[in-house]
Amino acid sequence: MTLDSETRYIHGACPLDCPDTCSWIVTVKKGEPIALRGDPEHPFTRGSLCNKVVDYLTYARSPHRLLYPMRRIGPKGCGEFSRISWDEALDEIAERFRDVIARDGAEAIWPIAGSGSMGLIQGIYGAGRRLWNVLGTSRNDYTLCTIAGGFGTGYTLGDNKVGMDPELFRFSKLIVLWGANLLSTEPHLWRPILEARKHGAFVVTIDPIRTRTAAAADWHLAPKPGTDAALALGLMHVVLTQGKEDRQFIAEHTIGWEKFRLRILEFSPSRAATITGLPSQDIIDLGKRLAEGRPTGIRIGIGLQRHGGGGMAVRTISCIPGVTGDWRYPGGGVFYDTRGFFGLNWNALWRDDLRPRQTRALDMKRLGKILLETDKPLVSILFVYASNPAASVPNQNQVLRGLARNDLFNVVIEHFLTDTACYADIVLPATMQTEHRDLLMAYGHLYIAWNEPAVSPPFECLPTTEIFRRLARKLGLNEPALYESDETMATQLLDSRHPSLDGITLEKLKAQGWMRLNYPSPFVPFERSFPTASGKLEFVSERMAQAGFDPVAGYTPTHEMSQQDTFLAHEYPLALITPANHYFLNSIFANIPRQQQRAGVPTLLIHPDDAESRQIAGGDEVRVANARGSFFAVADVSDRVRPGVVASSKGRWPRDFKQGATVNATVDDRDSDMGGGAVYHDNRVRVDKVE
Ligand code: SF4
Repeated sequence: MTLDSETRYIHGACPLDCPDTCSWIVTVKKGEPIALRGDPEHPFTRGSLCNKVVDYLTYARSPHRLLYPMRRIGPKGCGEFSRISWDEALDEIAERFRDVIARDGAEAIWPIAGSGSMGLIQGIYGAGRRLWNVLGTSRNDYTLCTIAGGFGTGYTLGDNKVGMDPELFRFSKLIVLWGANLLSTEPHLWRPILEARKHGAFVVTIDPIRTRTAAAADWHLAPKPGTDAALALGLMHVVLTQGKEDRQFIAEHTIGWEKFRLRILEFSPSRAATITGLPSQDIIDLGKRLAEGRPTGIRIGIGLQRHGGGGMAVRTISCIPGVTGDWRYPGGGVFYDTRGFFGLNWNALWRDDLRPRQTRALDMKRLGKILLETDKPLVSILFVYASNPAASVPNQNQVLRGLARNDLFNVVIEHFLTDTACYADIVLPATMQTEHRDLLMAYGHLYIAWNEPAVSPPFECLPTTEIFRRLARKLGLNEPALYESDETMATQLLDSRHPSLDGITLEKLKAQGWMRLNYPSPFVPFERSFPTASGKLEFVSERMAQAGFDPVAGYTPTHEMSQQDTFLAHEYPLALITPANHYFLNSIFANIPRQQQRAGVPTLLIHPDDAESRQIAGGDEVRVANARGSFFAVADVSDRVRPGVVASSKGRWPRDFKQGATVNATVDDRDSDMGGGAVYHDNRVRVDKVE
């Protein structure tokens, strides 16, 4: 788009780990980006960017940005580096690769990509995968985020990443925001909700914390963390008591109803109240609203499933619209993820056929443990990009010890000298979103977007894909797929023959910036059938039985939170959860002074009753500890959190904490119930005032 010969408007999209995937337009004058705004034409994100990203151009021009390849010159972790050339950097990396492959095999190399960029070409989904396949390195099992809930969704609906179209919340009469703080983590979903509200919708939030969203809702229920499945069953119990189950939908579109009905009947409101800590009258009242509120739209937040029963919780909540029949209505159903609707040609992008044999998958949430293990082949090279595991992976003390291993060769592609980068042997400077090409899907709507570079990369920064192309060349690899351009890879990804992408081409995306997937509007995906083997919503799942789970949807207690009268519960009496920070996106922006100022010092939210019994006053320094580790924070004494629960937000960098440990120092690296997901919200601690 061009206005005059000096001013250009460039389409792009936000690459960050957020369901909204906002489309944006960069104004470039005389080659300089002078403004960034949301694309007003985008039907879902409609022209606004959130507080974190609105100043992205300044972020990209930060004086602290990495601009050259660097080699570490001080001890690991100290952050002392000296500038080297790209040739020197890539020669050294290639030499290390060759040595390690010859000595231990390629599985001694562990490439770790995180959600720092959700770009399909430059980020977590695609970058580097072809190179790792050709070399036959270990694979990264990305277990930090949505995986347990994905499994739970899949067991009920048949696909891990599908649900109701979020745009259709505007038709909902009852909206349940279940563990979802939209105003901090997906602000554009709030718009259809406001629209529904104008037409009389009632908005309920379910969250152990009175978040910004909870404060803005019509009603807030604060159950104990990790008890959501019991609440869901209690609510369905009320629906049955009211005789409001949709018998026709159940008969035609579900399987296993009799067994599930008996399971529901085990969870009377009073039993659900005992488990959740909610008044049973609240469960009855919300159950009655659910019984009458056609259609009801439920948003399940990602954090809800980060505990020992998280997969089952998402599975069971996804059953609710099967009981009420809401899956048949626009504005009815459950939304957890939308990525399953995109129909992209992953095989063409990844080229897993290039891998000589199946190699081991290493669990990212156990990064520390695995780095410290002596199992062969020992991880000798860690290659990290779009990720800051020192800040974001559980069991942080182990992670830092692992990164400090002197015999570990560590390469980090980054924008800033993160805590992880400080442990690197070689740091490589990557482009930011306004400087490279990328294709983006969303996990919170049905639009695909193209990101065109608005400006040239600063100094010696390179797109992550270009770094991999150059490294392949240094390694002397002949496979042509390793050298394909970003546009070629995007075209291959779009060329899937899936009906959702009918008519969507790179050329059209370049012209418009975004396109809606080729689905009808309104899109009611499970009106007639579900993508399960049975074609029906599965209250009872044969696949679960085969995987060794209880096949009937139900309630799985957490590992630590639900313990009572145990040694652990006495020793560590408070349940610690780690919600998203309003000003950071995971660990991104946590180093930016403007966002740091707005966010203030690291705090621990603690209920007045819990504070009083520990002689803690607001503003006191506290130590939060368990057997895994500890961190320091300032007490924020408030009834925004329920008694027995404390909260400290995620995302901050270890260096900003006394003794260099964040909330993740206390988080275990054990598995959730499904998919090996991380359990950030399943964590018992003790809290003491620091004298
Ligand atoms: S972080 Fe989310 S809300 Fe903010 S600009 Fe990016 S996609 Fe939009």
